[in-house]
Amino acid sequence: MEIKINNTKIILKIGDITEEDTQAIVNAANSTLMGGGGVDGAIHRKGGSAILEECKKIRKEKYTDGLPTGEAVITTGGNLKANYVIHTVGPICSGSFKEREEKLLYNAYYNSLRLAKEKGIKSISFPSISTGAYRCPVDKAAKTAFKAVIDFIKNENYIEEIRFVLFTQDVYERYKEAFNEI
Ligand code: ADP
Repeated sequence: MEIKINNTKIILKIGDITEEDTQAIVNAANSTLMGGGGVDGAIHRKGGSAILEECKKIRKEKYTDGLPTGEAVITTGGNLKANYVIHTVGPICSGSFKEREEKLLYNAYYNSLRLAKEKGIKSISFPSISTGAYRCPVDKAAKTAFKAVIDFIKNENYIEEIRFVLFTQDVYERYKEAFNEI
């Protein structure tokens, strides 16, 4: 499904984010930036070693203690269709979603979009950050994601297309419900 807010199209779909042809895709990374499981592993596998090389450089030059939760950095997309991967770190919820987790997840989405704008990126795909291994509740995470995206559109009005690429039917349905409550 799809809606338009100002000049930005927001699309919800089921799919594998590594197949998306937006200019950038977002990785739900961990603070090491060295790859991991879930969507992170899939992006590094398909994108190839150029992504990890740039991540290592970022760790060495800017984030020696790791990328803080809620922040974002950008690398090449390597062998992916997308030109860029924006790596962000969502909060670890372990089932509990309070103000702190909400703020950090909001920042992860908002800072990814801000970085995209800085790079002149006009189309971007997001996975469902923090709702896999990091166990944030999907309904609350979805609402927070939409809140960040809509705030960004209203404040910045720059990006033309934002896709949420959801891996399973179940997650897609829950995003759709949250979307309909906007
Ligand atoms: P986190 O550690 O931030 O929770 P995960 O990768 O464990 O990140 O999970 C985040 C979401 O990404 C989950 O809904 C998971 O099903 C989904 N996911 C896993 N692989 C892919 C993929 N290739 N494309 C899109 N979403 C994916």
